[in-house]
Amino acid sequence: DKLKESKVYMRALFDYTPLEDKATPCQEAGLPFKRGDILQVVSQDDQTWWQAKRVGDCNLRAGLIPSKQFQERFFLERSFRLSRKDRRGSSREANVSDQNDTEFLIYEEVTRYQQKPNERPRLVVLIGSLGARINELKQKVIAENPHRYAVAVPHTTRPKKSHEKEGVEYHFVTKQKFDADAENNKFIEYGEYKENLYGTSIEAIRSVQAKNKMCLVDVQPEALKALRTAEFKPYVIFVKPRIPESCRRRSAASSPGGGEHERITEEDLQEMRLSAQQIDQQYGHQVDQVLIKEDTASACAELRSILERLERETFWVPVSWVK
Ligand code: 5GP
Repeated sequence: DKLKESKVYMRALFDYTPLEDKATPCQEAGLPFKRGDILQVVSQDDQTWWQAKRVGDCNLRAGLIPSKQFQERFFLERSFRLSRKDRRGSSREANVSDQNDTEFLIYEEVTRYQQKPNERPRLVVLIGSLGARINELKQKVIAENPHRYAVAVPHTTRPKKSHEKEGVEYHFVTKQKFDADAENNKFIEYGEYKENLYGTSIEAIRSVQAKNKMCLVDVQPEALKALRTAEFKPYVIFVKPRIPESCRRRSAASSPGGGEHERITEEDLQEMRLSAQQIDQQYGHQVDQVLIKEDTASACAELRSILERLERETFWVPVSWVK
């Protein structure tokens, strides 16, 4: 008789290499995977070793992966060892999601999701490393298709300019009102610029979605955690500029971030590499898609095609979003 197909799917939040695992009962039976892979868990009967297949893999046989519980213990013991060696042990090495958060990044249960025609469009969140210029990308893609895509109108405490309209460029508010809203967690993010406060409210996103438009926001990656909810079902795109090996190779160095006419030094390139690495390490597990930006035009085209696919195709989302 046929075994029922397992419906348990997990997104891997860490890399696993059975050949380096001293705990596995059999290295050859292990299933290697990378962060971001979707695993179909065929059996959770054993407390320590689950059996799983990688989705999209032609290999039909299941392999062994550490159970969530077992991997948790492994990370916990390792973080103890690290913290004994070095009290400042980085969160990356301990594989925890946040400095002040003891939740380990192991698996996230996911399911296939496709937006139905009568459903609110998903929120599209852009994060970018140094030089990515995501705001420009966002504005361009929206300007081409303003009836389908929109930004969340931010709040600001700066005075309104004569050509601006309340609720179009910004919601213009007093400092007191802004502070009160911030205090009440109404913003997904806010910051100061030239002594004025700017921020994007949750309500601003909702009001775009209420018009049945796809809302695009660009935020600091710290805001991701608050946005990952069933209500918004964010699709997270990490934009990083293609960084040339060296600024001496002129043809390559002229394009990163679209800054065609700027002189870029080796230090700038190194800073860009570091910025991309840091975001990848700290927030990579919350990213649905990485967009490598060669130049503004091709990045816009790619972003446009991602947005079109979002409305048509099926994507993996946390099970808690669709219950
Ligand atoms: P302006 O006052 O010229 O319209 O905007 C100046 C700057 O304010 C922008 O370049 C941007 O850096 C910042 N800004 C605009 N909207 C927001 C927002 O929603 N959040 C944050 N943190 N900064 C914003």
